Amino acid sequence: MTARILVVDDIPANVKLLEARLLAEYFDVLTADDGYKALDIVANTHVDIILLDIMMPGMDGFEVCERLKADPKTAHIPVVMVTALDQPADRVRGLKAGADDFLTKPVNDLQLVSRVKSLVRLKTLSDELRIRAETARHIGFEDYLRMDSLDAPGQVLLVDGRASSQERIIKALKPVADVTAMSDPQAAVFEAAENPFDLVIINGTLDQYDPLRLCAQLRQLERTRFLPLLLATELGDEDLIVRALDLGVNDYIVRPLDPNELVARTLTQIKRKRYNDRLRSSVRQTIELAVTDGLTGLHNRRYLDNHLKTLFNRAAARGRALSVCITDIDRFKQVNDTYGHDAGDEVLKEFARRIRSTVRGADLACRYGGEEFVVVMPDTDGAAAAMIAERLRDIIERTPFALPGTDVALNITASLGIATNVPGVETPEQLLKQADRALYEAKNSGRNRVVAAAA
Ligand code: GH3
Ligand code: MG
Ligand code: MG
Repeated sequence: MTARILVVDDIPANVKLLEARLLAEYFDVLTADDGYKALDIVANTHVDIILLDIMMPGMDGFEVCERLKADPKTAHIPVVMVTALDQPADRVRGLKAGADDFLTKPVNDLQLVSRVKSLVRLKTLSDELRIRAETARHIGFEDYLRMDSLDAPGQVLLVDGRASSQERIIKALKPVADVTAMSDPQAAVFEAAENPFDLVIINGTLDQYDPLRLCAQLRQLERTRFLPLLLATELGDEDLIVRALDLGVNDYIVRPLDPNELVARTLTQIKRKRYNDRLRSSVRQTIELAVTDGLTGLHNRRYLDNHLKTLFNRAAARGRALSVCITDIDRFKQVNDTYGHDAGDEVLKEFARRIRSTVRGADLACRYGGEEFVVVMPDTDGAAAAMIAERLRDIIERTPFALPGTDVALNITASLGIATNVPGVETPEQLLKQADRALYEAKNSGRNRVVAAAA
């Protein structure tokens, strides 16, 4: 894991110390000795994480943080504020300024490295998804890319065997999250898998239960794989922390819990969880859009070209039949010419609906282009394909196509060509070509009919 860390501190000895420790972990380190220089570096260079001192002449750390978080170009960069242990009020102000995390001076090695690594891991994931979702932004999914304040309280599952500790955590998180507290770790696994939590906080000293086992289970389950985990540990539990972070626990917090630190860590995890969820769903939408025909909602030609290959090869490997049907609306140009292009679009939409209602779930229906559609039918031999195609032909001809908002109902027919993966048909391209030839024959021999490719 490598990342570029910006260390901001006005005291050279502090900078040198943090720089040396981070370099030893092979991080790339940039330094700045005041807030203006820090903002300048961030504006001109790619920075993954910022370690920010508070007391600095000129612009203090709070203001630097506020400015970074106010700028959409830099708001997603995690800021770790380095605070003095005897200044708990600094953490409150840090939180208000938008700090993502805190470290206490003198900075402990394990805390520094694990904190930075955990933030880098989260940021790497966000960056990756953000890049992939760039296209989504261009087609109007900006909403998915916002990462501002929480729009609804976080949902936190707390696994903690002690009532007093549960109460303290629930109280601290009250302003930012709804907490469900459980003391039985096994029941908690089920609870986490069944409900949309944003974060699980695990007490590292569960009675008669290995907290790492719980962490590992939550990491392995499909439904909780992406769920952030925050471990509450005792001071000196460094072995446990290292193993927990290796298992994929996102962060830890040392007892006695500082309520502000707990809020900061919790908010960071919840925000990133929500952010990544949005990005993931926007990526999914982008992919869906790329393979979907906008007018009819059927798959498009690009999807067909890719997926037919898969279906064809699978059928060949298993020795199963596979048929395709190409259908083209008859005299469709006349519909456009007589009733207009919008009417033509309505006919195409209705045509697609009828195809969808006719084919089975396992069949793949696509708009191949213009007024041509393709249906790919796995496990379907020539005889069955001929029956399905005939049913489709009939369902088009039998009921006139009503034009919405008018009394007009159009008699529409279609011609269909079918082909099957019989010996001699070696590739998906040959299969489509055969079906296309059969369609051509159907057109030439009078339209409104099904023709099967010669075996
Ligand atoms: P044939 O029976 O030989 O298939 O005659 P046809 O008129 O259907 O065939 P032709 O290929 O000459 O015309 C197809 C028409 O489909 C021409 C084109 O304007 C129209 N078309 C293609 N895509 C769309 C679309 O998305 N919307 C509308 N309204 N029309 C489309
Ligand atoms: Mg046509
Ligand atoms: Mg055509």
